[in-house]
Amino acid sequence: MLRFDIITIFPDMFGPILNESIMKRAQEKKKVAIHVHDLRDYTDDKKHRKVDDRPFGGGPGMVMMAQPLFDAVKAIKGKRKVKVIYTSPAGKPFSQIHAKRLTSFKNLIIICGHYEGIDERVREHLVDEEISVGDYVLTGGEIPAMLIVDAVTRLIPGVLGQEESLVHESFEDNLLEGPQYTRPANFRGKKVPDVLLSGNHKAIKVWRNTKALAKTKKVRPDLLEKGR
Ligand code: SAM
Repeated sequence: MLRFDIITIFPDMFGPILNESIMKRAQEKKKVAIHVHDLRDYTDDKKHRKVDDRPFGGGPGMVMMAQPLFDAVKAIKGKRKVKVIYTSPAGKPFSQIHAKRLTSFKNLIIICGHYEGIDERVREHLVDEEISVGDYVLTGGEIPAMLIVDAVTRLIPGVLGQEESLVHESFEDNLLEGPQYTRPANFRGKKVPDVLLSGNHKAIKVWRNTKALAKTKKVRPDLLEKGR
């Protein structure tokens, strides 16, 4: 079982996303355990529950202090061997390969940043890996953390049912998924390609591969370069 521990100042954000659908099932099947921790429970400032302060040297905004983060990770980790991830626009870009690699860990702690980010000493001495979910800046690390948990969890064997198989998904073999259709075969004059109704599995497979390749060439030629 893969255990995720998420450290955040907005723990209530996670329930609606991670306790529904496949994420809910993955927890019920004991494929993953997801624990969400309120960073404010770990601050030494018991009165105001403060976790941020002004940046040394001046500048706008606030910076998340080292103390609550160091103490939170220490308490949550206990004697377990963990990998500590910090969600950050300055991190390595997240990808399907990256998600697959994370499935091999037993314990992942994810720190969600806020404000202007975290004290650099957390980066240097506590964090094992920084992950970016794209070249844009979000308000906080909560959405990136949910995204990472979701992308990793669905790759764990046994999480997806037969009907949600990973086999033809985008990024498998560096290809995007080709077009999909469902009933009716004729929707207001717009017809499903004949080959999909033919029952000829070999021809369907060839058609799907051709379409996936054409779509990837058009939309994400960089993926094909990567596969070479
Ligand atoms: N001042 C920071 C900078 O320029 O890099 C941005 C801080 S951002 C407003 C607050 C937090 O949101 C970050 O500490 C990080 O945890 C999270 N975050 C924002 N964009 C992200 C991204 N693209 N990928 C991962 N985390 C992100």
